[in-house]
Amino acid sequence: MSEEIAVIPGDGIGQEVVPVAVDVLDAVGDFEFVHADAGDAVKAETGTALPAETREAVEAADATLFGAAGETAADVILPLRSAVESFVNIRPARAYPGVDALRPETDVVFLRENTEGVYAGHEDDLSDDLSTLTRVVTSSASRRLAEFACEFVEAGRGPDGTEGFTVTHKANVMRKTDGRFRDAVVSVADERGVETDEELMDAFATRLPLYPDDYDVVVCPNLAGDVLSDLAAGLVGGLGLLPSANVGEERGLFEPVHGTAPDIAGQGVANPGATVLSAAMLLEFLGYDEDGQRVRDAVEGVLADGPRTPDLGGDATTEQVGDAIIDRL
Ligand code: ATP
Ligand code: MG
Repeated sequence: MSEEIAVIPGDGIGQEVVPVAVDVLDAVGDFEFVHADAGDAVKAETGTALPAETREAVEAADATLFGAAGETAADVILPLRSAVESFVNIRPARAYPGVDALRPETDVVFLRENTEGVYAGHEDDLSDDLSTLTRVVTSSASRRLAEFACEFVEAGRGPDGTEGFTVTHKANVMRKTDGRFRDAVVSVADERGVETDEELMDAFATRLPLYPDDYDVVVCPNLAGDVLSDLAAGLVGGLGLLPSANVGEERGLFEPVHGTAPDIAGQGVANPGATVLSAAMLLEFLGYDEDGQRVRDAVEGVLADGPRTPDLGGDATTEQVGDAIIDRL
């Protein structure tokens, strides 16, 4: 069976790094690629940042590989995440041999709730002085996330084959919303016999940089996951190497954590690592675990031995790094 993969490079360096990841997928599998547009450039041309045919391509595909969108990012990525009905955002942060990192021992996977919290909340301006935000937390979405987290660690997909996870929240202050989140997550884990630690998210933000070894899989509400995974990104050496996956029941959307990088776009020197590692997550999502691991190993080999792009202290181009990865495959 050849699965269908929607490919949306988007804007900026998305145009440069996504083709590398497509070549990598092509080298390891037999996929049908469907190219689609989204972002600033297509908006300038057609008036809409997310054309209907792009959304349809994503809904029809088994998985989507996305690059980045500029000013229109929120108009593109939020509807695309909902087009794949993604309930969890997976963000691994690990340091690689040969890459400068503040905390090289960091190896942690964030499982971030992807549908609610403050990002799904309703904002209002109530007066010249007052704005409010309603936060949304359901037991069902929290339980769905927890079930995914349990399956994730049961399958040995966490760092070091960890069998438990940490859940972060601020239920001591937001007793109803984070209280509901915490209770749902912990009770699912208890039902399934999966061990959990709890950590208040502020304490977690202090402890992660100090003791990165203490953490493997971290389950978070939406906003907390956004912030804490960026904190972890800082520990492992920046954005060029961080992949992410938006996973739904049937479809997934895979994208680098970085944006369009306007400062280097068009120069052909963007690091394709984050997008290629996102493609590895796509392979695993489709059930090709061995191929995903092969891709990861190839990236790791190139990071260790070069060539490297300028963000990692090298002078190679995106294309040269891509060729080196494919040579190793
Ligand atoms: P956007 O508004 O699209 O998010 P941004 O200005 O926030 O863009 P990012 O893409 O988030 O930029 O990148 C932040 C910094 O990290 C920039 O200096 C950028 O050059 C660098 N960077 C991000 N991704 C890469 C990459 N793949 N390779 C090299 N440098 C990168
Ligand atoms: Mg950015």
